[in-house]
Amino acid sequence: MSDVRNVIIIGSGPAGYTAAVYAARGDLKPLVFEGSVTAGGALMNTTDVENFPGFPDGIMGPDLMDNLRKQAERFGAELITDDVTEVDLKANPKVVKVGEDVYRAHAIIIATGSGYRELGLDDEKRLSGRGVSWCATCDGFFFRNQHIAVVGGGDTAMEEAIFLTKFAESVTVIHRRDELRASKIMQDRAFANDKIKFLWDSEVVKVNGEDKVTGVQVRNLKTGEESALEVTGLFIAIGHDPRSQLFEGQLDTDADGYLLVDAPTTKTKIPGVFASGDVVDHIYRQAITAAGSGCSAAIDAEHWLQAQG
Ligand code: FAD
Repeated sequence: MSDVRNVIIIGSGPAGYTAAVYAARGDLKPLVFEGSVTAGGALMNTTDVENFPGFPDGIMGPDLMDNLRKQAERFGAELITDDVTEVDLKANPKVVKVGEDVYRAHAIIIATGSGYRELGLDDEKRLSGRGVSWCATCDGFFFRNQHIAVVGGGDTAMEEAIFLTKFAESVTVIHRRDELRASKIMQDRAFANDKIKFLWDSEVVKVNGEDKVTGVQVRNLKTGEESALEVTGLFIAIGHDPRSQLFEGQLDTDADGYLLVDAPTTKTKIPGVFASGDVVDHIYRQAITAAGSGCSAAIDAEHWLQAQG
């Protein structure tokens, strides 16, 4: 069949574009579906990225993604800014649909990322990268000697709160209940840390600030009383949802929906289907680790295609 591609890449974050650069340079002429609303991936929603190697002065998230996109195009990757709506990974060749349009490929690289859960407040998105953050590893450094808050009560929230005390003057954990969901060991560590305070039975109802966060409005869920908390940073740690629904019933996931691969490779249980980036990774969740696994996926795909003859 002449219309069968070597490889289709689903996703255009650091994992998808890096896979595209490698696959294109390997002469596989990859076709990339970038997604519509979130083309460019999670870094399109942030400002400074200071920890991506190679940029001593940092780089703005959207600029980094624009560079990656251009790099993929330069080597001949074909990009389509649309959402894949259906896949048949067991078919031979594999089928990818965008609405009524049908595409076929021998190999598929999945790089659909994960979405962080939001509080659902008006100014949350607007102030993302301007005090509102979903990643302590990425942004903690910006909050030296400042007062900040963390929303959440699970292991991740405690990990982030403890990590942030390295930089911040104080970290207030805001939690909806009067006890944490986090494991006992993480709770003990958080309670033993002098810099961490707790606001129990509370939820954030408003983020204040024009160009950057100046504070949050907090409501006590038991009394209904509202109070202002002066913080310059708000870290939201209420969970991530891997974008793996498209592959339900075809690929295996863990209990939280992350795609399972035969680590350290990017092979899924279906030959010729590879998965990379945050849709697989619930531990590191960094642009560089996503890019690294996108590279691995392209090399895995190339080897697999070669072995098919
Ligand atoms: P994503 O970047 O999430 O990309 C997923 C891609 O899949 C998107 O392009 C989307 O359009 C596409 N997609 C999804 N579904 C479909 C579909 N059905 N069809 C087609 N396409 C689809 N990391 C750092 O290292 N440093 C930082 O400073 C940093 N700051 C961050 C700031 C914020 C606000 C956030 C949210 C994250 C930050 N991160 C940072 C984390 C980093 O952005 C992620 O780890 C990384 O983007 C994951 O890359 P990915 O390619 O796996 O997924």
